[in-house]
Amino acid sequence: MKSKQIDFSKYSSIKIGPIVDVLVVENGDIFPNNHFLIGGANNLLVSPMPPPLMMLGKSFDYMKIKDNYLEVGCATKTGRLLSFAKKHNIANLEFIAKLPGTIGGMVAMNAGIKSYEIFNIIKEIEINGKWVKKEQIKHGYRFANLGGIATRVRLNLEYGYNENLKDELLNLRNNQPKEPSAGSCFKNPKNDYAGRLIEAVGLKGQRVGDMAFSEVHANFLVNLGNGTYEDAIKLINIAKSRVLEQFNIELEEEIKII
Ligand SMILES: Cc1cc2nc3c(=O)[nH]c(=O)nc-3n(C[C@H](O)[C@H](O)[C@H](O)COP(=O)(O)OP(=O)(O)OC[C@H]3O[C@@H](n4cnc5c(N)ncnc54)[C@H](O)[C@@H]3O)c2cc1C
Repeated sequence: MKSKQIDFSKYSSIKIGPIVDVLVVENGDIFPNNHFLIGGANNLLVSPMPPPLMMLGKSFDYMKIKDNYLEVGCATKTGRLLSFAKKHNIANLEFIAKLPGTIGGMVAMNAGIKSYEIFNIIKEIEINGKWVKKEQIKHGYRFANLGGIATRVRLNLEYGYNENLKDELLNLRNNQPKEPSAGSCFKNPKNDYAGRLIEAVGLKGQRVGDMAFSEVHANFLVNLGNGTYEDAIKLINIAKSRVLEQFNIELEEEIKII
């Protein structure tokens, strides 16, 4: 199997992490079971000593229209899928505009915005080489219990790409900070917002080293330049303990720390 040297301070969206060799797995390879699978690293905080890592290779980067479904390889980037949807007039994918990542990462996170999330349109997922129907996979707000590696996904196919809907959903991103981040740091607790809680405990704009809870949106942990893993962890822990103390709510990280 091939491997690829990845500098996570460049590759990851939050621009933190070491340079490491990542195993590249292709169609037909036997997947090692002691490696952590990464996608586009848009939801990851990588420590200086991560576990052995792997990623899906080019053979999983494709899109194909079949009779009543669209099959997508899990290494395919969301931007490419959105362009494909627009070109072929496919509906229900407008929400992935500016939602950075691979389809594998989207499925694993059940990524989405508002009431739009990827599981809404999934028909079945190939996990560890077997097709599994959506109904058999436990999933919810920002989680999916895949129990393995997703290699391909079949999405229900409907026609009618909606540019206005795309623009509407893009507008919701106006309050997203421009600095590097890994998206929302914490999941929203039931009936509340992580951003509101972080602000309420006085941490909006709080900085440790070059990491901060954004002034623009408190639930975005942003890298202001040379932020480190340690700075990020400090802020995460401060937020968790203050919110627990003052609101008796346990914040759960949305970003994956490895
Ligand atoms: C600016 C910005 C905005 C964002 N906005 C949103 C948003 O609106 N909504 C939202 O939901 N998220 C958002 N995110 C977070 C991120 O874009 C999503 O979580 C995305 O789905 C991550 O995809 P990825 O390929 O980068 O996955 P990674 O970050 O590499 O991995 C995330 C998780 O998925 C697992 N994984 C990856 N590929 C596979 C696979 N093939 N099979 C099984 N598991 C896999 C990894 O093991 C890891 O646990 C945002 C991030 C940024 C930086």
